[in-house]
Amino acid sequence: MHPCGRVLNEEFILGNIDEITNFSEIYNNDAYKKLVEGAIKRREKCKSCNVYKYCNGGCNSDALLYGSLEENHHNACIVNKAMFTYTEDAFNKIIKGEKICNNKYIIKRLKEKYQF
Ligand code: SF4
Repeated sequence: MHPCGRVLNEEFILGNIDEITNFSEIYNNDAYKKLVEGAIKRREKCKSCNVYKYCNGGCNSDALLYGSLEENHHNACIVNKAMFTYTEDAFNKIIKGEKICNNKYIIKRLKEKYQF
């Protein structure tokens, strides 16, 4: 078993489904501990980021793919910052009534959900 379909590194194998007797065994091993500790260290570095409230430190798989579980200055991070900054700006404009989108369905759904 792996943490997700993208984290297939040998060091993060959490167990063998045919060998475990209890699901908690998956969370009580060194691989899982290493994964969580690395993610916590990365997210500590992220806390000053202006999109942290949306991104929350990004994806473990992306961090591993680009070098290290503990690092956040990689390509996915650049994409996350651009995407969340753009989305926040667009959303704020829509709330203020600025027309940035002609898709009536999207506008209707946003109005229903956020009541503006
Ligand atoms: S965009 Fe990058 S620095 Fe900001 S919270 Fe996400 S992973 Fe961390």
